[in-house]
Formats: sequence, structure tokens, C-alpha cells
Amino acid sequence: LGIRQREKLRDFLADREGPQPARLTVLAGPTAVGKGTVSAYIRENYPDVLLSVSATTRRPRPGEVDGVHYYFVSDEEFDRMIETGELLEWATVHNSYRYGTPRPPIDAALAEGKRVLLEIDLQGARSVRAVMPEALLVFLLPPSWEELVRRLIGRGTESAEEQQRRLETAKVELAAQDEFDAQVVNTEVSEAAREVVELMDAPFSRNDFPERGALSG
Ligand code: 5GP
Repeated sequence: LGIRQREKLRDFLADREGPQPARLTVLAGPTAVGKGTVSAYIRENYPDVLLSVSATTRRPRPGEVDGVHYYFVSDEEFDRMIETGELLEWATVHNSYRYGTPRPPIDAALAEGKRVLLEIDLQGARSVRAVMPEALLVFLLPPSWEELVRRLIGRGTESAEEQQRRLETAKVELAAQDEFDAQVVNTEVSEAAREVVELMDAPFSRNDFPERGALSG
């Protein structure tokens, strides 16, 4: 190849595959690891990161505000959102309610060059990988298995049977960590939040993740 062609090729590859900041980032992890707390901390302390507001069919808990924590919608409304293609991904979580990521606000933010964070479950992370392979997938880990058990049991709201069921789920969920691009240990909330935001800013190349794509299968 001549020098000109080589330069062109290099520029082309830089555009397509070169290091790019992770504009769309997914934060997932096992039940009770503290995803919600870390993403709430990011919403409060990193206002230039858009934290996506999901739609859900579950009812609001005390203190939850429609349009801030979730869009609380009826089953009919959720069906309509699926049919019109408004959702980037959706899943039934814990075998009960449906949760989904509205696409229009994300497209708008990305078009403005803003960073977007999705706090969603594993199924959702897999769907995002399939439709937006350029997204960065971050897995939040507990400091140890014992600590995860402590956090799960510590809520004290579930029966022994339900606790056992959740521990089994957490074990399966933890096994998915290697499918992710990066892992962050949630020992201290502000520290974990800072690491997630730093990952969003770090330029990365697809070639850094030879195993990418494992999630979409
Ligand atoms: P909670 O009802 O406790 O707020 O959330 C239950 C689970 O739903 C959490 O694991 C959370 O990550 C997940 N979740 C919240 N929003 C979405 C979403 O838009 N899509 C998917 N797939 N999961 C979600």
C-alpha cells in the first residue's frame, strides 16, 4: 500500500475500531450487591451522566417518585411501549414485574455526546450487548461471598426459604461476571461510583475485549 492509502486505512480503522469513550454503559451485578445505591450516588454526584429512568409495571415504594426513580406504568402501557419499539430492552425480573429501558431519551443524550448509564438486570445487559455491541458492560461485585450473604440476609425482610432462593440466584448471577468488560468491587459506595464513572471516561478499544460477544449467544 502507498503511504496515502495506508493513512486512509489507519484513519478508517481509528474511526471504526479505535479507542472511544464508552458513551453507553450498563451497570449490572448480583442481587443485593448495591447497584441501586451506587447508581443513586452517581445521579446525585455526577450530574453530567444521564442515569436512564426505566419503565416498570411494579407499584412505587414509599419515597419513589414517578419519572425520577421509574416511570410507573400499567401492563397495557408496557405492552404498548413494546409494540411501538420504544424500549431498548426489557425483561421480567424476579418472575414478577416487567422492567424496560425507554430508548428516546438515550438516543437524544448520545446524540448530544452525553454519557448514559443503565442500571439493569443481567438479562437486560445481555439484550443491550446484542443491540448495541459498542456499549460498555460493567459488573458490580461484592467484596466477598460472605459479605454478599450478609447484605442479602441483613435486609431481614425475607423468609428463610426466600433467602435461600436468592442466594442460589446470586450464585448463578456471580458466575456471569466474566462475560463483562470490567468489574468493580463495591466495598465503599462513593469509591465504586467513582470507578464506574472513570471507566465511562476511559477510551477503550474493542480489541481490549477479545471475549466480547460472549453475552449475545
Ligand atoms: P427494583 O424493583 O428493586 O427497583 O429492581 C429490581 C431489578 O430490576 C433490579 O435488578 C434492577 O437492576 C432491574 N431493573 C431496573 N430497571 C430495569 C430495566 O429497565 N431493564 C431491566 N432489564 N432490568 C431493570
